Amino acid sequence: ASRLFHPEDTVIATAHSRIGGSHFTLMAGPCSVESAEHVLAMAAVAKRSGATVLRGGAFKPRTSPYSFQGLGETGLQALRRAADQYDMDVLTEVMAPEQVALTAQYADILQIGARNMQNFALLKAVGQTRRPVMLKRGLAATIDDVLNAVEYILAGGNSQVMITERGIRTFDNKYTRNTLDVGAVPVLQKLTHLPVVIDPSHAAGHTEWVTPLALAGTAAGASGLVVEVHDHPAAALSDGAQALLPEQLQTLAQQVQRVRTAI
Ligand code: PEP
Ligand code: MN
Repeated sequence: ASRLFHPEDTVIATAHSRIGGSHFTLMAGPCSVESAEHVLAMAAVAKRSGATVLRGGAFKPRTSPYSFQGLGETGLQALRRAADQYDMDVLTEVMAPEQVALTAQYADILQIGARNMQNFALLKAVGQTRRPVMLKRGLAATIDDVLNAVEYILAGGNSQVMITERGIRTFDNKYTRNTLDVGAVPVLQKLTHLPVVIDPSHAAGHTEWVTPLALAGTAAGASGLVVEVHDHPAAALSDGAQALLPEQLQTLAQQVQRVRTAI
């Protein structure tokens, strides 16, 4: 992953997106795939804001085992159909090595969630695929922990990996769910040639803080954003408290363009 071995930026190419280098990629969608109708409506919203990647979880890493766990393969099918309808790529989480083959049938980008960043069996499993991988920084992972986790994927021969800063645990997570480490963006970009993107939603935990964190990450030079959006957050099956409304996503996308022009 080091720039010493690969000075140029890696640009990940999917059917509808370029991620890394001078490109900026907007990835948006609901936290969870809730139904075929809902994810289709959210795909339309994401597309309208300029997103080229549709995110949505079908296998959900919930803090409580009694919370909604995701629709599984039914969710993957709905996500794929929604993305195809709007010429978008699918980004979705895979939680266990035995889910990798199934998920890779539907997804363009495999997400490794923060809680699984050091699940080495899972990292090896996605390293064996040739699907791009989004590796999310663990809740208490150092920069070197992240880079070592990346190496597990690269060592399997899969060179298409992006890193997502999604907020870490600090001493004060009363007002924000996590603390967005904006400094990780330039630091990682110096150390590695791989794309670095920001997830302001899981860092913020509350809708109100998502936009300022997204703009800060953009200003710091991130290669893209992954943002949760929902048309009826109070009824969302997961992470409603941090979802942007469709019109808020639209405004954010316009503000991101202005920040990109300014830097
Ligand atoms: C998610 O993307 O919905 C998610 C659970 O993310 P994280 O692993 O960063 O908490
Ligand atoms: Mn979520």
